[in-house]
Amino acid sequence: MSVAEAFDDAGLWGRIDAWLHALRLPGAAAHCRALAQEGVGEETVRTLEGVLAAELESRELRRYQRNLRTARFPVIKELGAFDFSAVPTVPKARVEELATGRFVSASECVILVGNPGTGKTHLLIGLGMEAIRKGLRVRFVTASTLVNELLLARAELRIPKLLRFYGAFDLVLVDELGYVPFNREAAQLLFEFFSDRYETRATALTTNLPFAQWTQVFGDETMTVALLDRLTHRSHVLLLNGESYRLKESRRRMPPRSADPSSPEGEVKPS
Ligand code: ADP
Ligand code: MG
Repeated sequence: MSVAEAFDDAGLWGRIDAWLHALRLPGAAAHCRALAQEGVGEETVRTLEGVLAAELESRELRRYQRNLRTARFPVIKELGAFDFSAVPTVPKARVEELATGRFVSASECVILVGNPGTGKTHLLIGLGMEAIRKGLRVRFVTASTLVNELLLARAELRIPKLLRFYGAFDLVLVDELGYVPFNREAAQLLFEFFSDRYETRATALTTNLPFAQWTQVFGDETMTVALLDRLTHRSHVLLLNGESYRLKESRRRMPPRSADPSSPEGEVKPS
């Protein structure tokens, strides 16, 4: 392929031009356009392409590593390691759809509701990991830490600054909402936090509480209704009900109970 052809079909030169713009190097892009018109040997163009590809790759890797650090995941969990057969109420296809990151671009909410040990935090972090792979900025925080941050910020008159800080993340993961009841001030601040992100930024959260019980934690019924209205509008609710995965796993690892002579060796009778 001649250089002219490459330029004409926006192939090689077109790619180089797009990359130089992605790298914010408009001067170099203009120079390359001139080179393309002059006609430069294909080998030179290929070399240039290789140099740019290497730069883009290394930037992407650094961005991924930086975003992974700033996400502050307490532990790394991958969706690939999640056993969907353990939670029949959560179809794998729904989680795969969420993993595309479209809900993040659309500033939607994901709510994972379920008993302790059913894999809510695992899925939450797994979704966060996928978003980071898409180049998105993610932050993990537990609800109790978030409440403490909000209370401190209110005392220091810097709520707007804290909201701007979280506003810079495409996706905020709030873990364990509902484990600890809040006082009225904390509930109001959380309401403000979620309202601030409503329809402008994506949020995913986990809770052990069915929606009907949220008033118990938030105290005020009117505010709880308003909060649920914001959170559940255009949201993806996944219910993970059932037995704790941890319990099930440890039971599976336990040695079989003393053999019953009437049953085949090692078989455990259902209790
Ligand atoms: P929750 O947040 O609902 O209390 P976790 O996500 O912390 O539960 O899960 C508890 C432990 O069990 C974690 O180590 C998690 O990786 C594992 N786990 C839970 N559910 C599954 C599952 N379906 N497949 C694989 N691991 C799971
Ligand atoms: Mg959890």
